[in-house]
Amino acid sequence: MSQRKRKPGRGKRPARRAARGRNTLAAIVSRPGMMRVRRSRVHGRGVFALRRIRKGTRIIEYLGDRVSHRQADRRYEHKHISDNHTFLFIVDRNVVIDGGSNGNDARFINHSCDPNSESLIDDRRIFIEAIRTIQPGEEITYDYQIGRDRADPPNVDDIFACRCGAQGCRGSMLWPPRHRPRGPRRATRRAGKNP
Ligand SMILES: [Zn+2]
Repeated sequence: MSQRKRKPGRGKRPARRAARGRNTLAAIVSRPGMMRVRRSRVHGRGVFALRRIRKGTRIIEYLGDRVSHRQADRRYEHKHISDNHTFLFIVDRNVVIDGGSNGNDARFINHSCDPNSESLIDDRRIFIEAIRTIQPGEEITYDYQIGRDRADPPNVDDIFACRCGAQGCRGSMLWPPRHRPRGPRRATRRAGKNP
């Protein structure tokens, strides 16, 4: 999703960092036969599981040019303000991965507010990992958690509106949320006195 003016701090953010030195790091770029890109009800194209993917599986590495934040800004400075496509993924203060250039299928994975996967950083590389078991045919998703920026237009939450359809959809791909999640309020229980 392009960000016309992408400041450091803007772009998708990995949910957590993995401990370094895990032997799984080896060479998981993608796993053949695990997933397929096709049209998605959520947004444009999406990535779907071809077989059951167990919780904890590293599904794919998010690949693309590794550039500085400044270079990333320059690359997308002419994108229209209402263009909500971003292939930029923040690794750290210095490096952004631009999946729009030399990227792989990971760039087609859609956002969800109730995702079945998450992004994580390991040794300055970004991986998408299943956080629950994913069934064959299910769309693979993670929470983009696109950062907010002072230079955002007032309607930035509309530009990055989320239509993932999850029950607790927060209505925006940005994080932290500015609005209450849409949809019915969840009933909360509290301890009451017995009569
Ligand atoms: Zn949503």
